[in-house]
Amino acid sequence: MSLIRSLCVYCGSSSRGAPAHHAAAQRLGTELARRGIAMVYGGGMVGLMGICADAALQGGGKVIGVIPKSLDDLEVGHRGLTQLIVLDSMHARKQRMFELSDAFAVLPGGYGTLDEAFEIITWRQLGLHDKPVFLVDVAGFWAPLRRLLGHVIEQNYARPENARLYTVVDGVDALFKAMAASPEPHTAAKPKWM
Ligand code: AMP
Repeated sequence: MSLIRSLCVYCGSSSRGAPAHHAAAQRLGTELARRGIAMVYGGGMVGLMGICADAALQGGGKVIGVIPKSLDDLEVGHRGLTQLIVLDSMHARKQRMFELSDAFAVLPGGYGTLDEAFEIITWRQLGLHDKPVFLVDVAGFWAPLRRLLGHVIEQNYARPENARLYTVVDGVDALFKAMAASPEPHTAAKPKWM
């Protein structure tokens, strides 16, 4: 049985992506609720974020949004969540999302999603945590990123072992399988990949 009780979902704030991405966000929300795993996310009601949160809420799941005041003021904060935490800065927000989560899933998204994904992977590289990070490669969306990450290792800017800082899964079913197989998540870790 998975020891993961809360999953942080990083994903796009756009709803103009492929239908397969919408379907994956919706399925993820539904499955999180069904399995009793809390969803932690950026607190918006837009794009894949909103689709995933709405599906989890509809399934009776617990959804915690963490949003900076600036974005909440733009009226993109989701009002129907189990809890909406409003903080002063983007940095405080990302730190709180990290603290509340046992693991992280990266769905298709844009610059914000990439920023969040790289931050959490880099923190793991630095040994600041040892929580699992899953790159959910819906319909091959992350293939160019995977090539870039391979290139970085080939060019000796990251060690081959650093590829173990994240796990690539090809969809929501594979994500839950990988979560179930994950060891207990740790907040503090030894910097074993440095
Ligand atoms: P992007 O991939 O550029 O659409 O940014 C999405 C990611 O950045 C999400 O995982 C959020 O945590 C954060 N984010 C970006 N835009 C918003 C928004 N309008 N409301 C809440 N969070 C957002």
